[in-house]
Amino acid sequence: MPDLARTALVDHGVNLHEDMRNRVREKANAEIPSWYSPLLHLLFPSTVGIACIVLAAMQLRDVKPYELLIVPLVYLISNAAEWRAHKYLLHKRTPPLQVLYDRHTPQHHMIFVTHDMSIRDRREWRLVLIPFYGVLTILAVTVPGAILLALAGERNLGALFVMTTTFYVLSYEWLHLAYHMPLDSFVGKFPGIATLRKHHATHHDPELMQKWNFNVTVPIWDWVRGTTYKERAR
Ligand SMILES: [Zn+2]
Ligand SMILES: [Zn+2]
Repeated sequence: MPDLARTALVDHGVNLHEDMRNRVREKANAEIPSWYSPLLHLLFPSTVGIACIVLAAMQLRDVKPYELLIVPLVYLISNAAEWRAHKYLLHKRTPPLQVLYDRHTPQHHMIFVTHDMSIRDRREWRLVLIPFYGVLTILAVTVPGAILLALAGERNLGALFVMTTTFYVLSYEWLHLAYHMPLDSFVGKFPGIATLRKHHATHHDPELMQKWNFNVTVPIWDWVRGTTYKERAR
């Protein structure tokens, strides 16, 4: 095929894909209810989470150094759980949690791609943040674990457990939103954010999303499982 015809065909394919992306974006934006408040969506779960961390911290008494080991341990388990949930729930349609896939792969990944990661409007926070009940559900699942530890006489471990899991969930929300903020935004210039953003932006390449860079927070488990994308791996 002559080069000119090939280029025209590739351009046509790219344009078709961009058209499709625009249509998905328009549809997703049209479905955002008029009462939606981006600030409330961010601040409500964040406030509940921070209140949980403060309340748990107030339960701490005479913390022994070995008790603090639960913090990196729970952080690592959370990082592995995030990796697994992203790979197996957000990128595979798994009943009864199909809604997680539907919001992530055909919507979030369709709208935001490596070369176009930024939200265009604050209302598009809805296409990035976990639904507010998602954060509360994660808290509701972890708090009983902390209560059980407290009932077993490990009050400090229970408090540190809930503090770590809650911090983890909040950091996921804040970091993911930071990666999708415009490049010239205040948070986009935070030290470290650019590196983590690049890791996530690579995951947003449609050809790479099923295999690489599943950690949205710090890519520890991507490193453990060898799923950190390197240019030479392609
Ligand atoms: Zn994303
Ligand atoms: Zn993904």
